[in-house]
Amino acid sequence: MAEANREPAESGLEQSRHILSSLFHRKSKTKPNGKKPPIEEKKPYLEPDYTKVRVVDFDLKELVVLPPEIDLNEWFASNTTTFFNLINLQYSTVSEFCTGDTCPVMSACNTTYYWYDEKGKKTKCTAPQYVDFVMSSVQKLVTDEDIFPTKYGKEFPNAFDSLVKKICRYLFHVLSHIFWAHYKETVAMELHGHLNTLYTHFIVFIREFNLMDPKETSIMDDLTEALCTPLPPPPQNHVTER
Ligand SMILES: [Zn+2]
Repeated sequence: MAEANREPAESGLEQSRHILSSLFHRKSKTKPNGKKPPIEEKKPYLEPDYTKVRVVDFDLKELVVLPPEIDLNEWFASNTTTFFNLINLQYSTVSEFCTGDTCPVMSACNTTYYWYDEKGKKTKCTAPQYVDFVMSSVQKLVTDEDIFPTKYGKEFPNAFDSLVKKICRYLFHVLSHIFWAHYKETVAMELHGHLNTLYTHFIVFIREFNLMDPKETSIMDDLTEALCTPLPPPPQNHVTER
């Protein structure tokens, strides 16, 4: 897996956050009639200065291909668990800026996501509540030995791929919310290279195995295109330092 993604750059995080609070003096978004706050159309995450920042320079597509001799479900399980951990970690860096006031609904690119409880009932919740639902339910699944078996000889359940698809959808919602609502904070902490790389890795994995309906990921197609385009090689510099 992408080891380079694992570094959360913990050091200096608190300091960055401190600087951040003075940099981004958030206006409190009061919402009359409980309506959605006005959403900025500009997408800072598409700025070429930001999209070119990545933490690895190899083709992530090579990383997602099913290795020979590896069981597909096993591959799904290990990738899903890793993406869950990395996305959870990435969200934790902005979680203090994601509150019921800043994010009264779970949104990304003018799309609002609603949580459906175990009985299938649509629930209205804030973004941090939604993320909490996602993380706790995925945590429950990936640590369930009957669903994500880790012991040799134990079988995966029949509908394992549909569970994986469900998890991927939830994780996509969290990732796209970070881009949509918390990109500025991510940039201020200089963690956008990690976010960009994590997103690209995730989306090439999804595409390789058709784990999500392209209609659902289309809200982020502009970003996907920007990030999946290989960077031009750095200019050759023949000047010798003295
Ligand atoms: Zn938020």
